[in-house]
Amino acid sequence: MKQSENESTFSLPDDTPLARELADLSARKRRLADTTVTFTGQTRVMTVSNQKGGVGKTTTTVNIAAALATLGGRVLVIDLDPQGNASTALGVPHSADTPSIYDVLIDEFAIADVIQETAEHDNLFCVPSTIHLAGAEIELVSQVAREHRLKTALEEFRSSQEKPFDFILIDCPPSLGLLTINAFTATDEVLLPIQAEYYALEGLSQLLANIKMIQKHLNPQIRVSTILLTMYDARTRLAQQVADEVREHFPNETLDAVIPRSVRVSEAPSFGQTVISYDGGSAGAVAYKEAAVEITNRVAGNNEGAS
Ligand code: ATP
Ligand code: MG
Repeated sequence: MKQSENESTFSLPDDTPLARELADLSARKRRLADTTVTFTGQTRVMTVSNQKGGVGKTTTTVNIAAALATLGGRVLVIDLDPQGNASTALGVPHSADTPSIYDVLIDEFAIADVIQETAEHDNLFCVPSTIHLAGAEIELVSQVAREHRLKTALEEFRSSQEKPFDFILIDCPPSLGLLTINAFTATDEVLLPIQAEYYALEGLSQLLANIKMIQKHLNPQIRVSTILLTMYDARTRLAQQVADEVREHFPNETLDAVIPRSVRVSEAPSFGQTVISYDGGSAGAVAYKEAAVEITNRVAGNNEGAS
Protein backbone atom coordinates (compact mmCIF):
# COMPACT_ATOMS: atom_id res chain seq x y z
CA MET A 1 0.00 0.00 0.00
CA LYS A 2 1.18 3.47 -0.83
CA GLN A 3 2.02 5.47 2.22
CA SER A 4 1.43 9.20 2.18
CA GLU A 5 4.30 11.54 2.72
CA ASN A 6 4.78 12.46 6.35
CA GLU A 7 2.43 9.71 7.45
CA SER A 8 4.16 7.31 9.75
CA THR A 9 3.14 3.88 10.88
CA PHE A 10 4.02 4.48 14.54
CA SER A 11 2.21 6.88 16.83
CA LEU A 12 3.74 10.12 17.96
CA PRO A 13 3.21 12.24 21.03
CA ASP A 14 0.68 14.99 20.17
CA ASP A 15 2.98 17.87 20.95
CA THR A 16 5.79 17.25 18.43
CA PRO A 17 6.07 19.49 15.35
CA LEU A 18 5.47 16.45 13.11
CA ALA A 19 2.33 15.47 15.00
CA ARG A 20 1.04 19.04 14.71
CA GLU A 21 1.83 19.04 10.98
CA LEU A 22 -0.08 15.79 10.48
CA ALA A 23 -3.07 17.07 12.45
CA ASP A 24 -3.02 20.23 10.34
CA LEU A 25 -2.87 18.20 7.11
CA SER A 26 -5.82 16.06 8.22
CA ALA A 27 -7.86 19.17 9.02
CA ARG A 28 -7.04 20.66 5.61
CA LYS A 29 -8.04 17.41 3.86
CA ARG A 30 -11.38 17.44 5.69
CA ARG A 31 -11.92 21.07 4.69
CA LEU A 32 -11.15 20.25 1.05
CA ALA A 33 -13.52 17.27 1.10
CA ASP A 34 -16.30 19.65 2.14
CA THR A 35 -15.42 22.24 -0.50
CA THR A 36 -17.38 22.62 -3.71
CA VAL A 37 -16.61 25.19 -6.36
CA THR A 38 -18.63 26.62 -9.19
CA PHE A 39 -17.20 27.28 -12.60
CA THR A 40 -18.44 30.41 -14.32
CA GLY A 41 -19.03 28.88 -17.75
CA GLN A 42 -16.45 31.34 -19.13
CA THR A 43 -13.09 30.00 -20.26
CA ARG A 44 -10.16 31.35 -18.26
CA VAL A 45 -6.88 31.28 -20.16
CA MET A 46 -3.88 31.32 -17.82
CA THR A 47 -0.25 31.38 -18.88
CA VAL A 48 2.18 29.95 -16.37
CA SER A 49 5.39 31.89 -16.79
CA ASN A 50 8.62 32.94 -15.15
CA GLN A 51 11.79 33.33 -17.18
CA LYS A 52 13.76 31.79 -14.35
CA GLY A 53 14.37 28.08 -14.92
CA GLY A 54 13.27 25.38 -12.52
CA VAL A 55 10.96 27.44 -10.32
CA GLY A 56 8.02 25.04 -10.66
CA LYS A 57 6.18 26.31 -13.76
CA THR A 58 5.51 22.88 -15.24
CA THR A 59 4.81 21.25 -11.90
CA THR A 60 2.33 24.01 -11.14
CA THR A 61 0.68 23.82 -14.58
CA VAL A 62 0.00 20.08 -14.50
CA ASN A 63 -0.96 19.87 -10.83
CA ILE A 64 -3.27 22.88 -10.87
CA ALA A 65 -4.79 21.48 -14.09
CA ALA A 66 -5.34 18.05 -12.51
CA ALA A 67 -6.74 19.60 -9.34
CA LEU A 68 -9.15 21.76 -11.36
CA ALA A 69 -10.27 18.67 -13.28
CA THR A 70 -10.97 16.78 -10.04
CA LEU A 71 -13.00 19.78 -8.88
CA GLY A 72 -15.20 19.24 -11.96
CA GLY A 73 -13.61 21.66 -14.41
CA ARG A 74 -12.94 20.90 -18.07
CA VAL A 75 -9.28 21.70 -18.48
CA LEU A 76 -6.78 21.95 -21.34
CA VAL A 77 -3.02 22.13 -20.87
CA ILE A 78 -0.99 23.53 -23.75
CA ASP A 79 2.65 22.50 -23.54
CA LEU A 80 4.55 25.40 -25.09
CA ASP A 81 7.99 24.29 -23.89
CA PRO A 82 10.29 22.32 -26.25
CA GLN A 83 11.42 20.33 -23.19
CA GLY A 84 7.95 18.69 -23.24
CA ASN A 85 7.89 18.25 -19.47
CA ALA A 86 4.16 18.96 -19.14
CA SER A 87 3.41 16.33 -21.81
CA THR A 88 5.58 13.84 -19.90
CA ALA A 89 3.94 14.63 -16.58
CA LEU A 90 0.47 14.15 -18.09
CA GLY A 91 1.55 10.85 -19.65
CA VAL A 92 0.73 11.85 -23.25
CA PRO A 93 2.84 10.66 -26.20
CA HIS A 94 5.12 13.39 -27.53
CA SER A 95 7.75 11.70 -29.67
CA ALA A 96 9.07 13.69 -32.65
CA ASP A 97 6.38 12.40 -35.06
CA THR A 98 3.44 13.22 -32.76
CA PRO A 99 1.21 16.07 -34.06
CA SER A 100 1.85 18.87 -31.62
CA ILE A 101 1.75 22.56 -30.82
CA TYR A 102 4.64 22.98 -33.27
CA ASP A 103 2.31 22.03 -36.15
CA VAL A 104 -0.26 24.50 -34.85
CA LEU A 105 2.19 27.39 -34.69
CA ILE A 106 4.17 26.72 -37.86
CA ASP A 107 1.90 24.72 -40.19
CA GLU A 108 -1.46 26.09 -39.05
CA PHE A 109 -2.87 22.75 -37.90
CA ALA A 110 -6.08 23.08 -35.89
CA ILE A 111 -5.73 22.54 -32.14
CA ALA A 112 -8.60 20.03 -32.44
CA ASP A 113 -6.31 17.89 -34.63
CA VAL A 114 -3.44 17.69 -32.14
CA ILE A 115 -5.26 17.62 -28.78
CA GLN A 116 -4.94 14.44 -26.72
CA GLU A 117 -6.94 12.92 -23.89
CA THR A 118 -4.99 12.19 -20.71
CA ALA A 119 -5.12 9.12 -18.51
CA GLU A 120 -5.02 11.53 -15.58
CA HIS A 121 -8.69 12.54 -15.79
CA ASP A 122 -11.61 12.41 -18.27
CA ASN A 123 -11.85 16.19 -18.09
CA LEU A 124 -8.18 16.89 -18.64
CA PHE A 125 -6.71 17.28 -22.14
CA CYS A 126 -3.27 18.19 -23.44
CA VAL A 127 -1.78 19.72 -26.54
CA PRO A 128 1.70 18.18 -26.48
CA SER A 129 5.02 19.69 -27.39
CA THR A 130 7.71 17.82 -29.31
CA ILE A 131 11.39 18.43 -29.85
CA HIS A 132 10.51 20.26 -33.11
CA LEU A 133 9.33 23.17 -30.99
CA ALA A 134 12.96 23.95 -30.20
CA GLY A 135 13.29 25.29 -33.76
CA ALA A 136 10.01 27.20 -33.68
CA GLU A 137 11.52 30.15 -31.84
CA ILE A 138 13.66 30.81 -34.95
CA GLU A 139 11.11 29.67 -37.53
CA LEU A 140 8.47 32.01 -36.13
CA VAL A 141 10.61 35.06 -36.76
CA SER A 142 9.86 35.05 -40.49
CA GLN A 143 6.20 34.09 -40.17
CA VAL A 144 3.22 36.37 -40.75
CA ALA A 145 1.50 37.43 -37.52
CA ARG A 146 4.22 35.68 -35.60
CA GLU A 147 3.07 36.91 -32.18
CA HIS A 148 -0.61 36.03 -32.77
CA ARG A 149 -0.43 32.46 -34.03
CA LEU A 150 -1.42 30.76 -30.78
CA LYS A 151 -4.14 33.32 -30.10
CA THR A 152 -5.71 32.78 -33.54
CA ALA A 153 -5.54 28.98 -33.18
CA LEU A 154 -7.10 29.13 -29.72
CA GLU A 155 -9.91 31.39 -30.88
CA GLU A 156 -10.75 28.99 -33.73
CA PHE A 157 -10.59 26.03 -31.38
CA ARG A 158 -12.75 27.66 -28.73
CA SER A 159 -15.44 28.63 -31.20
CA SER A 160 -15.51 25.03 -32.50
CA GLN A 161 -16.15 23.55 -29.04
CA GLU A 162 -19.74 22.76 -28.09
CA LYS A 163 -18.72 22.41 -24.46
CA PRO A 164 -16.38 25.21 -23.43
CA PHE A 165 -13.26 24.57 -21.42
CA ASP A 166 -13.28 26.11 -17.94
CA PHE A 167 -9.53 26.56 -17.90
CA ILE A 168 -6.81 26.59 -20.53
CA LEU A 169 -3.36 26.55 -18.94
CA ILE A 170 -0.27 27.28 -21.01
CA ASP A 171 3.12 26.06 -19.77
CA CYS A 172 5.95 28.32 -20.96
CA PRO A 173 9.67 27.76 -21.44
CA PRO A 174 12.09 29.63 -19.16
CA SER A 175 12.68 32.50 -21.58
CA LEU A 176 10.91 35.53 -22.93
CA GLY A 177 11.15 34.63 -26.62
CA LEU A 178 8.47 34.32 -29.29
CA LEU A 179 6.91 31.21 -27.75
CA THR A 180 6.26 33.03 -24.47
CA ILE A 181 5.11 36.12 -26.39
CA ASN A 182 2.59 33.93 -28.24
CA ALA A 183 1.30 32.72 -24.87
CA PHE A 184 1.11 36.29 -23.50
CA THR A 185 -0.77 37.44 -26.59
CA ALA A 186 -3.30 34.60 -26.23
CA THR A 187 -3.91 34.90 -22.49
CA ASP A 188 -5.97 36.98 -20.10
CA GLU A 189 -4.12 35.95 -16.98
CA VAL A 190 -0.57 35.17 -15.98
CA LEU A 191 0.10 32.71 -13.15
CA LEU A 192 3.54 33.39 -11.79
CA PRO A 193 5.17 30.64 -9.71
CA ILE A 194 7.86 31.97 -7.41
CA GLN A 195 10.32 29.62 -5.76
CA ALA A 196 10.61 30.51 -2.09
CA GLU A 197 14.40 30.76 -2.19
CA TYR A 198 17.17 33.30 -2.43
CA TYR A 199 17.12 35.37 -5.67
CA ALA A 200 13.41 34.61 -6.02
CA LEU A 201 12.55 38.18 -6.89
CA GLU A 202 15.54 38.79 -9.10
CA GLY A 203 14.49 39.21 -12.72
CA LEU A 204 10.87 39.72 -11.71
CA SER A 205 10.93 43.40 -12.67
CA GLN A 206 12.10 42.43 -16.16
CA LEU A 207 9.22 39.97 -16.50
CA LEU A 208 6.71 42.57 -15.28
CA ALA A 209 8.14 45.17 -17.69
CA ASN A 210 7.77 42.68 -20.55
CA ILE A 211 4.17 42.01 -19.59
CA LYS A 212 3.53 45.79 -19.55
CA MET A 213 4.96 46.00 -23.04
CA ILE A 214 2.71 43.16 -24.23
CA GLN A 215 -0.22 44.97 -22.62
CA LYS A 216 0.61 48.13 -24.54
CA HIS A 217 1.32 46.62 -27.94
CA LEU A 218 -0.26 43.19 -28.26
CA ASN A 219 -2.81 42.35 -25.56
CA PRO A 220 -4.47 45.00 -23.38
CA GLN A 221 -6.26 42.27 -21.34
CA ILE A 222 -3.17 40.63 -19.90
CA ARG A 223 -2.56 40.84 -16.15
CA VAL A 224 -0.65 38.93 -13.53
CA SER A 225 -3.68 37.60 -11.68
CA THR A 226 -2.04 34.94 -9.56
CA ILE A 227 1.24 34.36 -7.76
CA LEU A 228 2.01 31.01 -6.17
CA LEU A 229 4.90 30.31 -3.82
CA THR A 230 6.50 26.97 -4.67
CA MET A 231 9.02 24.60 -3.07
CA TYR A 232 8.42 26.24 0.27
CA ASP A 233 10.45 24.80 3.11
CA ALA A 234 8.73 25.83 6.33
CA ARG A 235 11.84 24.96 8.37
CA THR A 236 13.91 27.76 6.88
CA ARG A 237 13.64 31.39 7.83
CA LEU A 238 14.62 32.31 4.28
CA ALA A 239 11.46 30.77 2.81
CA GLN A 240 9.37 32.77 5.29
CA GLN A 241 11.24 35.96 4.39
CA VAL A 242 10.72 35.43 0.66
CA ALA A 243 7.03 34.71 1.25
CA ASP A 244 6.65 37.90 3.34
CA GLU A 245 8.38 39.97 0.69
CA VAL A 246 6.26 38.57 -2.14
CA ARG A 247 3.06 39.18 -0.15
CA GLU A 248 4.15 42.72 0.65
CA HIS A 249 4.68 43.52 -3.05
CA PHE A 250 1.70 41.56 -4.38
CA PRO A 251 -0.91 41.35 -1.61
CA ASN A 252 -3.86 40.78 -3.97
CA GLU A 253 -2.22 38.39 -6.37
CA THR A 254 -0.46 36.00 -3.98
CA LEU A 255 -2.46 32.92 -3.09
CA ASP A 256 -2.80 31.92 0.57
CA ALA A 257 -1.94 28.37 -0.47
CA VAL A 258 1.78 27.67 -0.54
CA ILE A 259 3.32 24.60 -2.20
CA PRO A 260 5.72 22.78 0.12
CA ARG A 261 8.94 21.19 -1.08
CA SER A 262 7.91 17.57 -1.30
CA VAL A 263 9.43 14.36 -2.61
CA ARG A 264 6.02 13.11 -3.76
CA VAL A 265 5.63 16.17 -6.01
CA SER A 266 9.02 15.65 -7.63
CA GLU A 267 8.69 11.89 -8.18
CA ALA A 268 5.16 11.90 -9.70
CA PRO A 269 6.28 12.86 -13.26
CA SER A 270 8.53 9.82 -13.55
CA PHE A 271 5.31 7.76 -13.37
CA GLY A 272 3.67 9.97 -16.02
CA GLN A 273 1.35 11.26 -13.34
CA THR A 274 0.56 14.41 -11.42
CA VAL A 275 0.83 14.32 -7.65
CA ILE A 276 -2.97 14.62 -7.56
CA SER A 277 -3.36 11.09 -8.94
CA TYR A 278 -0.03 9.75 -7.67
CA ASP A 279 -0.61 10.57 -4.01
CA GLY A 280 -3.68 12.76 -3.61
CA GLY A 281 -3.43 12.82 0.19
CA SER A 282 0.16 14.04 0.34
CA ALA A 283 1.02 17.53 1.54
CA GLY A 284 1.96 18.68 -1.97
CA ALA A 285 -1.28 17.40 -3.52
CA VAL A 286 -3.37 19.00 -0.78
CA ALA A 287 -1.60 22.33 -1.30
CA TYR A 288 -2.16 22.22 -5.08
CA LYS A 289 -5.85 21.40 -4.52
CA GLU A 290 -6.14 24.36 -2.13
CA ALA A 291 -4.49 26.60 -4.72
CA ALA A 292 -6.92 25.36 -7.39
CA VAL A 293 -9.90 26.15 -5.15
CA GLU A 294 -8.57 29.65 -4.53
CA ILE A 295 -7.95 30.25 -8.24
CA THR A 296 -11.47 29.12 -9.08
CA ASN A 297 -12.98 31.33 -6.40
CA ARG A 298 -11.06 34.35 -7.63
CA VAL A 299 -12.95 35.43 -10.66
CA ALA A 300 -10.61 37.28 -13.04
CA GLY A 301 -10.52 40.96 -12.20
CA ASN A 302 -11.99 40.38 -8.79
CA ASN A 303 -9.34 39.09 -6.43
CA GLU A 304 -11.50 40.06 -3.49
CA GLY A 305 -13.64 37.08 -4.47
CA ALA A 306 -10.93 34.82 -3.06
CA SER A 307 -12.00 32.88 -0.01
P1 ATP B 1 11.87 24.90 -16.52
O1 ATP B 1 12.22 26.34 -16.36
O2 ATP B 1 13.04 24.02 -16.87
O3 ATP B 1 10.70 24.70 -17.42
P2 ATP B 1 10.05 24.72 -14.34
O4 ATP B 1 9.97 26.13 -13.90
O5 ATP B 1 8.96 24.22 -15.20
O6 ATP B 1 11.45 24.41 -15.05
P3 ATP B 1 9.67 22.36 -12.80
O7 ATP B 1 10.14 21.49 -13.92
O8 ATP B 1 8.22 22.36 -12.52
O9 ATP B 1 10.17 23.85 -13.03
O10 ATP B 1 10.43 22.03 -11.45
C1 ATP B 1 11.84 22.00 -11.41
C2 ATP B 1 12.30 20.81 -10.57
O11 ATP B 1 11.86 20.99 -9.25
C3 ATP B 1 11.71 19.50 -11.06
O12 ATP B 1 12.67 18.48 -10.88
C4 ATP B 1 10.53 19.28 -10.14
O13 ATP B 1 10.23 17.91 -9.96
C5 ATP B 1 11.03 19.91 -8.85
N1 ATP B 1 9.91 20.45 -8.05
C6 ATP B 1 8.97 21.32 -8.45
N2 ATP B 1 8.12 21.60 -7.46
C7 ATP B 1 8.53 20.87 -6.39
C8 ATP B 1 8.08 20.72 -5.04
N3 ATP B 1 7.01 21.37 -4.58
N4 ATP B 1 8.78 19.89 -4.24
C9 ATP B 1 9.89 19.23 -4.68
N5 ATP B 1 10.35 19.33 -5.92
C10 ATP B 1 9.70 20.13 -6.77
MG1 MG C 1 9.00 23.68 -17.24
